[in-house]
Amino acid sequence: MTNLNQALFDRASLTSPGGVNSPVRAFRSVGGTPRFIKRAQGAYMWDENDTRYIDYVGSWGPAIVGHAHPEVVSAVQEAATQGLGFGAPTRAEVEMAELLCTMLPSMAQVRLVSSGTEATMSAIRLARGFTGRDLLIKFEGCYHGHSDSLLVKAGSGLLTLGNPSSKGVPVGVSNNTLVLPYNDVPALKTLFAEKGDQIAAVILEPIAGNMNFVRASFEFMNALRDLCTEHGVVLIIDEVMTGFRVGLQCAQGLYGIQADITTLGKVIGGGMPVAAFGGRADIMAHMAPLGGVYQAGTLSGNPVAVAAGYTTMKLIQAPGFYENLRAKGAALLDGLTHAAHAAGVPLSTELEGGMFGIFFSEQVPKSFADVMASRVDLFPAFFHGMLDEGVYLAPSAFEAGFISAAHTDDDVAQTIDCAKRAFARIA
Ligand code: PLP
Repeated sequence: MTNLNQALFDRASLTSPGGVNSPVRAFRSVGGTPRFIKRAQGAYMWDENDTRYIDYVGSWGPAIVGHAHPEVVSAVQEAATQGLGFGAPTRAEVEMAELLCTMLPSMAQVRLVSSGTEATMSAIRLARGFTGRDLLIKFEGCYHGHSDSLLVKAGSGLLTLGNPSSKGVPVGVSNNTLVLPYNDVPALKTLFAEKGDQIAAVILEPIAGNMNFVRASFEFMNALRDLCTEHGVVLIIDEVMTGFRVGLQCAQGLYGIQADITTLGKVIGGGMPVAAFGGRADIMAHMAPLGGVYQAGTLSGNPVAVAAGYTTMKLIQAPGFYENLRAKGAALLDGLTHAAHAAGVPLSTELEGGMFGIFFSEQVPKSFADVMASRVDLFPAFFHGMLDEGVYLAPSAFEAGFISAAHTDDDVAQTIDCAKRAFARIA
């Protein structure tokens, strides 16, 4: 039988670099042919060969209520019948902004954009415009989209491909990005003592899901908040991945810390291109058309995309939504841990809301160095073992996994069963 994934990949490779429109979709670090997805429903995706997979990628995070949720699909259909976009304000944008500002206490005002990259890039420009300073601090292994100043020692696809800093970024730009180790309070304090009055912003993933899953410690988050306040530095908490994925108050709620600016994406678009940045009113007042920091977008707040996001944001507020995600995630990770240990494979795991990490190490990593010290070499064989069994994981040892409300107990049990065989293959 013709392998339709392979046939499409061969065609795609002629017209697109590497055959994909985003490097994380390629199977570069695990080998093999990317699956070309024909359709998805609930917790499942089907590829061009009609092979079904239990999906733990969830479109890289957005699919928290499951793929093609009937209420989301019908909201999108309804919005589309009214017109696909107007380039003028709409009621839907007002309602979306009100919802976000109500749900996230640190967000007095918000601007909608179309990708997480735009959100973080614009948040940094705003922080620079607000403070009149140039320097930006980011942390090793964190990924914040692909704008120039953030492609320095980054996670996600850059880490997967082994080039954590992109070519093509002018030295003049990257010189303004200072990179520190994640969770390293002394390094943070030293840099603030030396350069605190030149730093515009610090940006971080509060749970770094682009180097698999590394939590910020409470000590680190508190030190960051205090140092930023003390030195007039804008704290940008990048919740593009964690926002409404780890809980209704995002990661900030878990840490009891308020960002000066928060960036959002993924879940708030429900699978469509919606992202946002927002925060303190005195900072947001610097945005055009009121202030001198410019940012714009033809498709910003697109009504069809916002319909998907808004409906998803309503669905996640159902009572017990996150408890359910957590229970399924805990059962999954518990089962995987037992299966790995029974096969003699080292495994540790992390979970928060509907986001999880699986590491081939005895201990949960606390830093980028710990992640790199884990047995990432075991991942490709495990990945393919699972894929062959009908379980779709991110094709990289450096990406978090996502569980949705659509995953059933039976899906979880089946996944654990598949893992028993996959672990046996790599032991
Ligand atoms: N920030 C974080 C934490 C992310 O995980 C991502 C994407 O994975 C981005 C920013 C960039 O978002 P986008 O891919 O929508 O540009």
